Parts: sequence; structure tokens; C-alpha cells
Amino acid sequence: MPLNDYEPVIGLEVHVQLATKSKLFCSCPAKSFGLGPNVHICPVCAGLPGVLPVTNRKAVELGVRAALAVGCQIRESSTFARKNYFYPDLPKGYQISQYERPLATGGHLEYPMGGVSRRIGIIRAHLEEDAGKSLHEGFPDSTSRTCVDFNRSGVPLLEIVTQPDLRSAAEAADFFERLRAILVAIGVNDGNMEEGSLRCDANVSIRPVGEEGLGTKTELKNLNSFRFLERALQYEIDRQTALVGTGERVVHETRLWDAAAGRTLAMRSKEEAHDYRYFPEPDLPPLDLSEERIAHIGRSLPELPEARKRRFVMQYELPEYDAGILTQSFALSEYFEATAALARNPRSASNWILGEVLRILKDTGADIADVRVDPARLADLIALVDRGTISGSVAKDVFQKMYETGTTAEAIVAAEDLAQISDETALLAAIRDVLAANPVPVAQYRAGRTKTFGFLVGQVMKATRGQANPGLVNDLLKRELEGRQGR
Ligand SMILES: [Zn+2]
Repeated sequence: MPLNDYEPVIGLEVHVQLATKSKLFCSCPAKSFGLGPNVHICPVCAGLPGVLPVTNRKAVELGVRAALAVGCQIRESSTFARKNYFYPDLPKGYQISQYERPLATGGHLEYPMGGVSRRIGIIRAHLEEDAGKSLHEGFPDSTSRTCVDFNRSGVPLLEIVTQPDLRSAAEAADFFERLRAILVAIGVNDGNMEEGSLRCDANVSIRPVGEEGLGTKTELKNLNSFRFLERALQYEIDRQTALVGTGERVVHETRLWDAAAGRTLAMRSKEEAHDYRYFPEPDLPPLDLSEERIAHIGRSLPELPEARKRRFVMQYELPEYDAGILTQSFALSEYFEATAALARNPRSASNWILGEVLRILKDTGADIADVRVDPARLADLIALVDRGTISGSVAKDVFQKMYETGTTAEAIVAAEDLAQISDETALLAAIRDVLAANPVPVAQYRAGRTKTFGFLVGQVMKATRGQANPGLVNDLLKRELEGRQGR
């Protein structure tokens, strides 16, 4: 069978750090990125004997929020379980997780992609505590010893497990990005993947196209960027396809992505669920949630990115692609809506944000919340263009100056005398200069090669520092070129 007759089958296990102040079962601060090791630990999260865990109410609420946002059913009674394994960063020798009765089950995300509707199922979402971290480098004796940092031990996580519904590395990365946008928009996660607030494991196998059963999968651990996820999956798909192509077998194992080398490495043969000897956590009562509390949390959810995107397409008549970018972040979509309302011109507001505003954010690494050109000021600039006071190309320079100086569009236009030239006499003089200076393109135009028209318009705009009214230049230039012809 030719190799391209295989298709990848991918499922994700996304670990979402819930944005609480404290850890899941103790009052230690949950955030410790950038701090020294073992500054946020106590007897509970350090696993000392004789202590009792107490479930963090806020973590439960955020977990329910996230699970509802991906369409899951919330269990009114779920249970915690001990997942037993031995690892130096796991001080108790077990992780408190949920197994037989998870917090939520049976959700999905549905969205259009490449012209078709994609529906990615969510099997379950369960609460669990994070483990600590082994430190293999950075200490004088790192060559002979490994140190351990328990700051992350007990940090609240929601693990979201998808159905194996994803069919390419790019599709998996796109899904992860969409999920992140939702989690950030509903305030469950800070979206900070470099700091490990959001990471995922990916299960991937290949099978002959048309087959229903699943091939042997490998699990890729701890991918904390969309790019790593996509590259690691693509590497693994190619590796498995090559193995099968030479008649070898894929081994069921856990593999690590080595970003520097650009490949995956076998880490260990995969544990099965029974290796973890799960049993109910005796120190915690069942997690009971009343129907009213679940409904209350559901009502507090904001409009989700996908719904907002559909609304933007309908309400503002924006192209789907543009609406998709505007709704990728909550702050950006609010910036857009405020600008569109004030300028009374949604299409222009969208174009400005997708063009100049995002360009400046990218160049400066700034956040939309810190942009000096607030929606009211951007709306004023759009109004100046709409009224014909300045041309579109001048407006771009004005925007740059607004960003740099923090002043208004009107002030910059007045101070620099940038108002658009709509005076016919002045424009005709400029046009005649351009025609005289460019005899070759003029002759070509008159010989029927009308493509040179755009060049001549460009020369007039240049001569007027972009201030000429482009519509008027078009009309006058055409008249000059065609009117003189028979003479
Ligand atoms: Zn603690």
C-alpha cells in the first residue's frame, strides 16, 4: 500500500492551569513562575504525613466554567481518586485526580475550517493537582544530583481529553489555539504557555484510509506551544508512516519532543491505566454541585469566541476570516466594537485594526490594552478619512504619529498641514508636471497600454506627499491623458 494511503488519528489531553490564587488542596499561592524553588510549599503540597487536603472552591468553579464552555455535561457528584506512581517530583507517591467519576463528560467544539464544519468531541474534563518539577541543571552539583522544586506541586489543573477526531498536525494545532482562546476569554486560564499555564499531550497513530479501527498510538508529552505541537506531531506521523512502510511496528510508548533536534525521542513504554492502581481518595468527600450552582456558573459565561465571530459576520458584514482574527482575543474584539460604534464604520474599523493596529502590536510586542490610540481616537482618524479631510495613505502616517506622540489625529493634521488636496488647479499643475516628466509611460498609455495609468497616479500621489484626493487625481489624470490625444 502506498504511504499516502495512511491517515493520522490524533487526540489531545490538554492541561489547563486554573487561574486561582491558591493551590487545589492547600492555601499556598498557585503562581510561582520566576521565583526560586520551594518558596510556595506547605505540609499539604509537600506530601508530609498526617495532613488533609481541602478542595479549593474557586478551582471547582473555574473547572465547571471551562467544561461548560466546551459543551460538557457537569456531574452533580464527582469523585477524586488517587493515581499511584513513583516519581521524585510526586512527594505523596500519588496524584489526586479524578478517574471513574470525572467532573464533566461528553462535550464538543464545532467550527468551520477550510469550508467544512469540523466537530471535535470532548470525552471528559477532570480536576487534578499538578506534580512538582525535577531540576536536572543549574546547580553546582547538577552533574551528580537532581534537585526537586515543589512550587507547582498541588497547582490546580483541569485536564480536557478530546476524542481522536483530529486528522492532521495542523488541525491539532489549530484546535489547541481555538481552545486556548476560549479558556482565556472566560477567565479560566491566563494563556501563558511559556510559563506552563497551558500544555498538552498528544496521542497519535496512523491507519489505512477508510479503516475504522485504531492503530498503535504513541503519546507525545508536555507540548507547550502550538508550533511544537504541530512539529512534534508531523515528525511522529512521518516516523510512524515510515516504520509501517518498511514492515515494522509502531511501539506503544511515551515520547518526548526535542525542539532543538527537531525530533521525538522514546521516553518510556506507556503505562496502562491499571498500572496506576487508581482508587477513590479517602481523604476527600465526593465533589457535590447543585443544579442551581452549575446553572449559575453557566449564566455567568460571556459570549464565546465562535459565537462572537458569527455575530461579527452577521452584524457588521465582515468577512469570516477578518471576524476570526478580531475575535481571537476578547480585548481585541472589544476594541473593535468600540471603534466601529464610534466611527459608525465597522468595515473601516476592522481594516484599521487588522492592518495598522495589529502591525504596531506585533512590532512593539505591546498588548492591545496598552495601545495609546484608544478606540475614540482611532474613530476620529477614520472619520477624517471618511469626510475626505485626509487621504488613506496620509492617514497611515498620522496613525503612526498618534501612536508615537499620544496626540489626536486632528492635532497632527493641523500642525503638519496634511489636509487632502482637493483643489483642481493645484492638482492639475501637479498632474501636468508628472506627464511632462514621464513621456514614455504617457506614450504607452496613449498607445493602448493602459497599465501605465497606475504608475502615473502613483507619481502624482508622490509629488503631493500622498495628500492628493485619489478619486480626483484619477478623474483629472484620465481627462488630461485622453483629452489631449487628438491634438
Ligand atoms: Zn501547600
